Amino acid sequence: MSDEQTGMIAGSCLCSQVAFQVWGRFARFVLCHCSRCRKATAAAHAANLFTGPGHIHWLRGRELIRRYQIPEARSFSKCFCSHCGSALPYVSRNGEHLIVPAGVLDGDPGVVPERQIFWDSRACWHEAGLVAPRFAEYPPVAG
Ligand SMILES: [Zn+2]
Ligand SMILES: [Zn+2]
Repeated sequence: MSDEQTGMIAGSCLCSQVAFQVWGRFARFVLCHCSRCRKATAAAHAANLFTGPGHIHWLRGRELIRRYQIPEARSFSKCFCSHCGSALPYVSRNGEHLIVPAGVLDGDPGVVPERQIFWDSRACWHEAGLVAPRFAEYPPVAG
């Protein structure tokens, strides 16, 4: 992991109405397999980068961002574009971290996931998916 990473990385939501830049260093890159993250991402796991709360510059669309929190959860939150539903960065409930969903970044964050948490809650199909046949884009149409 780079401790010196300072480059700006662009990110945006699917509809492009919300755009931002973030910069490191990213202290952590965590894949979370908990049931809340699986629901919130509709995917096998969340992929979250952590950096300082001030390390973001919103370029446009901030007024479209909505935040969902589960009152009884210790730390779970989700911020998203109210137009297209894409996950977006947010400051943690304790104010200590900017949490950046890695999938909304357009560039290389310069770090790779260093831990997977709530592994025991992983989707039952997750590991099979990792070894399924790979295609560069759509697979060839079956004749
Ligand atoms: Zn959007
Ligand atoms: Zn989680």
